Amino acid sequence: MGLELTLHCLGLPPGSKVIVPALTFVASFTAIIRAGHVPVIADIDPESWLLTPETASDVAAQTGAAAVLAVAAFGKPHDTKRWSAFRKKTGIEVVIDAAGAFGSQWVEAADVPVIYSLHATKSLAAGEGGIVVSGNPAINARVRQLSNFGINLDPEAGLPTGHLSFVGSNAKLSEYHAAVAHASLDQWHLHAGQRQKIYRTYRETLDAACGDKLQWQSGSAPAAPTIFCVRMAEPARNRMEKICQSRHIATRRWYQPLLHKHAEQVTPTIKMPVPIAESIASGLIGLPFSLFLSSDEITRIAEAARQATATHRKQLSPHLDHHG
Ligand SMILES: *Cc1c(COP(=O)(O)O)cnc(C)c1O
Repeated sequence: MGLELTLHCLGLPPGSKVIVPALTFVASFTAIIRAGHVPVIADIDPESWLLTPETASDVAAQTGAAAVLAVAAFGKPHDTKRWSAFRKKTGIEVVIDAAGAFGSQWVEAADVPVIYSLHATKSLAAGEGGIVVSGNPAINARVRQLSNFGINLDPEAGLPTGHLSFVGSNAKLSEYHAAVAHASLDQWHLHAGQRQKIYRTYRETLDAACGDKLQWQSGSAPAAPTIFCVRMAEPARNRMEKICQSRHIATRRWYQPLLHKHAEQVTPTIKMPVPIAESIASGLIGLPFSLFLSSDEITRIAEAARQATATHRKQLSPHLDHHG
C-alpha cells in the first residue's frame, strides 16, 4: 500500500511507464499496476544485484519511462543521493522500495521517497504495516490522506474538514500493529546486533565449507538481516535443495520467478532483456535464518552446502587443486 499510494502521489498521467528491476518481490510490480501505470522490467547490476541509475537512464531513453521504482533487494541499500542526482538530471521520478531494508536504507535525499515494510519477515516487524518516508511535505500529506479514505483533515485546504478531497483507501497502520512496532523498536538494537552476529558466523562457516563456490551480494551485511540468500551455480543449487529437503532444512527461491515471468498472465508490460537477473537468479538460494539459529544448525547447513558444491575434482586429479 505504501508503494502504491506513493506512486499515486507522483501525479504522473495514467499509463505512465515505471521502471522496475526483474529481481524483486511481486509487490513492486503489482503496486505499479494498481497505481495505474505500466511496468518496464529492467536488468540489475551483477555485483549489487540492484537496478542502477545507469541502466535506468538507458531504459528510459528507449522507452520514455516517467518514473523508477528501485528496490533495495535483500535489504541492500541504494545511494539515494545518486538517485536524486539522476532525478534532477532526467526529470524522472524515483521511489525506493526498501521493504526489507529498515535500518540499512537511509533517506538522504528529500526528493526520493523510501518505503519500508513492517511485515513479520522484515527487520522491524509489526506483523503487517509499512512506513513511507519522504522529505516532500506535499507527498507526505497526500499519502496520509490517501491512506485515510481521502478525507480532508486540513482546515487550511479550502474545503471543510471531514469532506472527501479525492478517493483514497484505508491503508492506515492499525493501533494494534503500531503497538507491536513500538515493542519491536524497543528491541531493535539488541536484535539487530544478534542478527548481524549470526549472519557473520553463518557466512564465514559457509565460505569455509565451500571455498570459492559461493557468490554473495556485494557490500556489507544489512543492519538487521532477516533472510539469508547466496548464489551457488547449478548443478550445486539443485543438489543443495535436494540434500536440504532430505534433512528437513527449508530453502526458498526468493524473488522467483523473476518479474518478467509473472508478467505474461497479468497485464501489458514492457520487458527489457534481463540476462544478468536471469544469471543471478539461476543460482540463488535462500537458506534458513532467524534470531534463534544455533551454531549447530549453521554447521549442519554448511555441511549440506559443502556436499552440494563439492566437485570431487580433488580425488580425480590433485594437481588441479589450485585452479579456481
Ligand atoms: C516484502 C516485500 C514487499 C512487500 O511488503 P509487505 O509489507 O508484505 O506488503 C515489497 N517489496 C519488497 C522488495 C519486499 O521484499
